[in-house]
Amino acid sequence: MEYGLGIKNNHLYFGGADTVELAKQYGTPLYVFDERVIREACRDYKNSIDRYYDGNGMVLYASKAFSCKEMYRIANDEGIGVDTVSAGEIYTALSADFPAENIFFHGNNKTDAELEYAVENNIGHIVIDDFLEIDRLNNIAGQLGKTVNVMLRIKPGIDAHTHDFIKTGQNDCKFGFTLETGEALDAAKKAIRTENLNVTGFHCHIGSQIFSTEPFSLAASVMASFIARVANETGHTVSELNLGGGFGIRYTDEDEPLPYAEFMNKVSAQLKYSCKELSLPVPKVFIEPGRSIVGPAGITLYTVGSIKTIPNIRTYVSVDGGMSDNPRYALYGAKYDALIANKAEEPDDFIATIAGKCCESGDLIGENIKIATPETGDVLAVLATGAYNYSMASNYNRMTRPAAVMVKDGKSRVIIKRETFEDLISKDV
Ligand SMILES: *Cc1c(COP(=O)(O)O)cnc(C)c1O
Repeated sequence: MEYGLGIKNNHLYFGGADTVELAKQYGTPLYVFDERVIREACRDYKNSIDRYYDGNGMVLYASKAFSCKEMYRIANDEGIGVDTVSAGEIYTALSADFPAENIFFHGNNKTDAELEYAVENNIGHIVIDDFLEIDRLNNIAGQLGKTVNVMLRIKPGIDAHTHDFIKTGQNDCKFGFTLETGEALDAAKKAIRTENLNVTGFHCHIGSQIFSTEPFSLAASVMASFIARVANETGHTVSELNLGGGFGIRYTDEDEPLPYAEFMNKVSAQLKYSCKELSLPVPKVFIEPGRSIVGPAGITLYTVGSIKTIPNIRTYVSVDGGMSDNPRYALYGAKYDALIANKAEEPDDFIATIAGKCCESGDLIGENIKIATPETGDVLAVLATGAYNYSMASNYNRMTRPAAVMVKDGKSRVIIKRETFEDLISKDV
């Protein structure tokens, strides 16, 4: 029953609901989320951060992984904060009554309008990404008569072994201030001198889909040294450290994620050790898991349409969605497991290339995926699509974005409605 998945009477169940029935009831493509899996991930993180940081820590759900009102309600209900990367995400969170003080605002190129929106709405922390932003934000805060809590995003110079497009800790990266060149120290000095910004701490996020604790431990020790360096040079000892997200999940059997508690245990031990060596008080620690909170909690259901066998080459099994609802194979070559939901007990000895219906040869959900022998009309379930699928979906080819339903103990409810043709032309003039 891993990830809320189960099998009964040859059908795939998810969160206690028969996925074949869900496909019938709501239509396909359909995103399905298991609320219990989401909540358990939030609790796991919260309990382990409380335990390993002696209550002086906070989990922020990185909401770009899957942003909709219901997700912000669940995060709030579980007592965690959120990280956002645009005024649109902040707006969504606030419209779900998410408390502003528990929101972090990131981004490498926030507009003035976004900064004003965040300051006006008393967003808890803004994570500054470049020098100009220090001045811009200081001015905006001054004009609005507010003091803003800020962190600075630092590139700690760590190469997390993950895909080039999702690693962000090394120097050649568009995010943040470089530690190695002294840029980060200059930025800290500048921000600390401002009138309207309160520098509470520093942030780093070294990448995504990371499976080992070492890069995180290394980041913790590098960041602790940086806090000490800034304290020595400016007399300002920050009290917060945000170590970002990036904890890996299982997409296929090739992935072997560690229990989150193990990250927390190892990294907290390293941070406490470093702080002791540096005679620093241990800062309040924030982590920002996105993928690992919602990824395994979601699946996508499609209906199989055309099946095309090219002898000695491959068989294309086409579904009624594609890169418009899951662009991750096209973007990164990301791998997924899939199965035929109405043939869940049948042997998966058919090797398929699962194709979408968009007008691109690269519109694939995956290659060499083992499934039961497919027939037109079958329901195909692609697993672990909860993160970076709906949030990366598009209307390419004027596809309508699928609905999302949340299941809990066998009961389902719509949390995002399926787009209609009307929606498609609603902004056309
Ligand atoms: C994307 C991102 C995260 C979340 O990464 P996951 O791999 O989804 O855990 C956290 N923090 C920042 C700043 C990010 O950009």
